[in-house]
Amino acid sequence: MATTTAVRAATAALGRCSRRHGSALNNTATRSLSTNPQRVVVTQVSAPAAPPPSPMPSSPSRQPPRHPNDVHDRNSNYADEEARSMGGVTATVRHDWTKAEIAEVYTLPFHELMYRASTVHRMYWDPSEVQQCTLLSIKTGGCTEDCSYCSQSTRHKTFVKPTPTMKVQEVLEAAKRAKDAGSTRFCMGAAWRELGNKKNAFNHILNMVRGVNGMGLEVCCTLGMLNAEQARQLKDAGLTAYNHNLDTSPEHYPNVITTRTYEDRLETIANVREAGISVCCGGILGLGEKETDRVGLLHVLATLPEHPESVPINALVAVEGTPLGDADADEGVDSDGIANVDSFDMARMIATARIVMPRTMVRLSAGRLSFSDAEQYLMFQAGANSIFNGDKLLTTDNPAFDSDTALFQKLGFVGKPAHAGPRVAPSEMLGEIEITKVHGSEQQYA
Ligand code: SF4
Repeated sequence: MATTTAVRAATAALGRCSRRHGSALNNTATRSLSTNPQRVVVTQVSAPAAPPPSPMPSSPSRQPPRHPNDVHDRNSNYADEEARSMGGVTATVRHDWTKAEIAEVYTLPFHELMYRASTVHRMYWDPSEVQQCTLLSIKTGGCTEDCSYCSQSTRHKTFVKPTPTMKVQEVLEAAKRAKDAGSTRFCMGAAWRELGNKKNAFNHILNMVRGVNGMGLEVCCTLGMLNAEQARQLKDAGLTAYNHNLDTSPEHYPNVITTRTYEDRLETIANVREAGISVCCGGILGLGEKETDRVGLLHVLATLPEHPESVPINALVAVEGTPLGDADADEGVDSDGIANVDSFDMARMIATARIVMPRTMVRLSAGRLSFSDAEQYLMFQAGANSIFNGDKLLTTDNPAFDSDTALFQKLGFVGKPAHAGPRVAPSEMLGEIEITKVHGSEQQYA
């Protein structure tokens, strides 16, 4: 804090910043670093004017300030921000990462990577707030795609028996149970290649989206490929987010799936983004990829026109009867690839995602059952700030609500309310972050 204090003292005479903060951030000093008329840069140092937000506010009047919930409004708050620095770590939101730069982050000594990711996490997020989401399979099995990890493909002989699309009422009852258990985002998955011309099923799904939205939950769907019109209709029905994973790098992808291309997936993601729906897009570790593929996936995500609002990081849950499940049992899908994912792999991937996409919610997704509480803690320290709860993730097992409640208590986490933007980082409230901005910007909190 010595540097921050010195900067503040040296710059106090230069006047107050014009940007609007919440009440705790009104005492802000600025200093001019450049007088280039095209691009005047100032450094802002927030003064410690108020205590950090209470982790468990007891009344609405004591609620900590939050960023806007809409991801585009939130992003526009940072439009003129150059960088954030704290504890010797500097972070920026960039879309021009090179693979070499991301590889440099990914291969840092583990202790250093964790320190940097944890510090970046604390500059942009309140690390005590972790969202709980629930994922329900509304149409299971019978999928004609050949994803080599998936238990629901007709091409693999697994334990999964195809079932028809669930009724709207059944889905709403499941959403109610999830909400009662503390979940604030409800995601519905259907096992098929694309929505295509499934008009009846789509109408049912639109009703599910309306119903879940009406319950006050954030609503997410994962329904395969989507065209622009379908994305628009889902948005109108109240869809919050759409999940469509890229799974792995463009190079490794054809080793995993052959029935649709990487470009197909990118097109669906673009349709979702165009419709104004939050993009949820991530990948799976354990597909026989190399470390360069992990870096390659992060490179694609971090260089999209807008970083996904959410990036799920999954560990393969090997299912007998799938090519990857069987290969995993035989110890390795590829002599060069990484077949078994451990907690360090997961933490390294999450930490790198946190650093290259600082404002993205990183979701610790499938595979949690194979990690102890302590190992999961490592992943939260790396920057994960969401989990999927409930005892099933589509068709595979997941920790039960009760064990996640116990884990949250153990780690001091609170859930994120639905349709509320993330809390402003306590370190920002305390003035511990040096923020470099293009002059003249303003920031508002909800
Ligand atoms: S991952 Fe999705 S698209 Fe691929 S086989 Fe499974 S259900 Fe079908």
